[in-house]
Amino acid sequence: MINTNFDLPSDVLDEIQRNIQDIIESFDIPDDNKFDVIRKINFMYTQTKQMSITDALTNLYNRRYFETSFEREFARAKRYNTDLSMVIFDIDFFKRINDTYGHLCGDYVLKEISWLMVENFRQTDIIFRYGGEEFVVLLTETPFDVANIPVERFRKVVEEHRFKFKGNDLDVTVSCGISSNSDSPDLKGMFDNADKALYRAKQEGRNCVRSFG
Ligand code: GH3
Ligand code: MG
Ligand code: MG
Repeated sequence: MINTNFDLPSDVLDEIQRNIQDIIESFDIPDDNKFDVIRKINFMYTQTKQMSITDALTNLYNRRYFETSFEREFARAKRYNTDLSMVIFDIDFFKRINDTYGHLCGDYVLKEISWLMVENFRQTDIIFRYGGEEFVVLLTETPFDVANIPVERFRKVVEEHRFKFKGNDLDVTVSCGISSNSDSPDLKGMFDNADKALYRAKQEGRNCVRSFG
């Protein structure tokens, strides 16, 4: 029944479908109008939902959706005894880019980085814009030692990418911190471990990948 132009994950589409069914059942809508009403509710609902879980600048999933997804993926990995890794990326000296070339240039870099992420990571990895210039990727079914490979590849892709804004060549790099569920007692621990690893990457010169442990 749900058929829209929005690109939403299946669990969100299921939730929408359930809610629309509840709405339809709680109102006495005449049969000849029903399809039209469902179509309209569906469109508005899905559009609103899409806006609530994505970030307008980059189109990536936002922090709110990260919280939901991380909880779900962490629980899933625990239940099925599978590996889950995560990486937090932070753009190096991003403030300097804004200060030197302006906010529009900063926005351009954020959008470009987001594209590179979508191109670089697997379809089964889930990418989020966590904050201003911080991104998180959940690497499903990926153990600690394997996670390093796509993350290091991405770091290099950014380092070698030509960022050009209004005739200016920009040097952009990212620092990355990796953690995994195998050495994290809980959800919060896993996030903190990635954050600590990122802090080390910054301390140890930036433009590098560090793992917790
Ligand atoms: P570090 O290498 O230690 O990470 O240094 P940094 O300059 O990247 O770190 P800092 O946290 O000092 O700066 C982050 C900057 O990100 C500050 C803020 O102006 C900028 N920023 C956050 N969100 C946006 C946004 O949506 N657009 C733009 N253009 N800039 C943003
Ligand atoms: Mg930051
Ligand atoms: Mg930064």
